[in-house]
Amino acid sequence: MGARTGAQFLEGLRRTKREIWVDGERIVDVTAHPKLRGGAESLAAIFDRQHEFAADCLFADPETGAPTNVSHMIPRSREDLLRRHAGLVRLSEGSMGIMGRTPDYMNMKFSAFASAPEVWAGADGRNERGAHNVVAFQRRLARDDVSLTHTIIQPTVDKRTDARIVGNKVTIRKVGETADGIVVRGARVLATLAPYADETAVYPGQPIPPDAADYAVSFAIPLDTPGLKFLCRDSAAAPGADPFDKPLSSRFDEQDAFCIFDDVVVPWDRVFIDGDVAIYNSMRATGYAIHMTTQSTVRALTKLEFAYGLATRMAELIGDHSPATTEMLGELACYVRLTANALELSLEKGWERADGVWFPDGAVLEPMRSMLPVWMPRVAEIITLVGSHNLLTTPSRAQLDDPALRPLIDEMLHGADGATADARAAVFRLAWDFVGSTLGGRGFLYERFYLTSAARNKQMLHTRFFDRTRSQALLDDMLSRDARR
Ligand SMILES: Cc1cc2nc3c(=O)[nH]c(=O)nc-3n(C[C@H](O)[C@H](O)[C@H](O)COP(=O)(O)OP(=O)(O)OC[C@H]3O[C@@H](n4cnc5c(N)ncnc54)[C@H](O)[C@@H]3O)c2cc1C
Repeated sequence: MGARTGAQFLEGLRRTKREIWVDGERIVDVTAHPKLRGGAESLAAIFDRQHEFAADCLFADPETGAPTNVSHMIPRSREDLLRRHAGLVRLSEGSMGIMGRTPDYMNMKFSAFASAPEVWAGADGRNERGAHNVVAFQRRLARDDVSLTHTIIQPTVDKRTDARIVGNKVTIRKVGETADGIVVRGARVLATLAPYADETAVYPGQPIPPDAADYAVSFAIPLDTPGLKFLCRDSAAAPGADPFDKPLSSRFDEQDAFCIFDDVVVPWDRVFIDGDVAIYNSMRATGYAIHMTTQSTVRALTKLEFAYGLATRMAELIGDHSPATTEMLGELACYVRLTANALELSLEKGWERADGVWFPDGAVLEPMRSMLPVWMPRVAEIITLVGSHNLLTTPSRAQLDDPALRPLIDEMLHGADGATADARAAVFRLAWDFVGSTLGGRGFLYERFYLTSAARNKQMLHTRFFDRTRSQALLDDMLSRDARR
């Protein structure tokens, strides 16, 4: 089939009778319910967007020739990397970078997974069947343009023992086998996009201990698989709100769900890892983290650019040219430029693996996983500081349309330099929805944790990924100068 349209995406959601709970309600049609409809429509618009910007977003499937989303591409040249990058930028613009888990996020991971079946198979080929299943699944993902959610993190039960996993009897694990497949039981967090996904994937995140073989499972299954349940967080969607009043909440709540596997049978052809801890712990060798960080940094850059534009417009609307505000706007510009620099350099330093697959430079992008979770909350703080009480003196659409109120609003709630009350309210409402609404609060949490915490990422950068050669050489050079000045 290749790249789907928005209408085809929505039709697919209606067909899959998933078990999605929001508040006390099991929602049957996620495309129609007031708490979920806005997100479904925005994602449908992103499916349409890939056709609208086909030159950037689509490429010809190497085997079928069908137009396919670029996030499924296994890049085989520098041109492929650049092409894919342009498509990712276009896709991120569909939600101003606010939706973190548009399907391209997972597509990128699986294109890396499928590019390295030997990692899934193990050095001695002992998991050939799993490797074959991963490759077949990725082909289906690309050809049917599947929307995929995922869970890689074990739920917190008791932080004193969670790291060992074994024994907590909560994290998903294999509990049996049938003729049809493995039986899994347990939970994982946190399936962003769950109501809007066709399938869900479970695959390795953090390493697990050698004696945790039952927990070393990886697979992907349709959302309507019996026993699979998603408990969504409270909706941030502002059902029924006029989009003028809640411009972001009414559109971009992608949802997050606690994922329960209640004795779920995973068919054999969907099992990627079945009890092999060494293979489970080796997934970084596929290069998936580079793809993941590429997609998420592109998405973050769009959000930062949007935030910079928003904060600048806010200041203009209230004639705020103070040194304090100007400095904060400059700080936002720094975050934009530094993020753009990282992406540009990662492409410039793109490299070819021995098998001909190309990657952006992962070392250049790695620090973004530590810094963006710190910068994003600061961005929200700057918008709050620039906005002050103006974030709340924002007439609603209904107030603006009220014939008795309107003249008073025009007289007393306009902006600087002739800015109309409508223009001012639209921008400050947008800003409050960005930082102060339920969606804004969820966005704060997302940016802090969606690629694990900044603290953990900084520790991993220092202990595992950073090349210290030059730093050590400089230090040793200095130390050796004692005798020579
Ligand atoms: C909105 C949202 C959406 C998400 N979507 C998904 C999804 O779609 N799929 C998925 O699989 N997961 C998802 N996650 C889960 C996410 O991957 C985890 O929340 C993340 O890995 C952090 O794990 P944790 O919540 O257990 O926190 P922890 O890592 O335990 O961190 C909790 C606190 O402890 C601190 N901390 C932890 N470890 C260390 C350390 N070694 N040193 C110092 N401090 C430390 C952290 O800084 C933090 O303050 C999502 C999370 C959020 C909030």
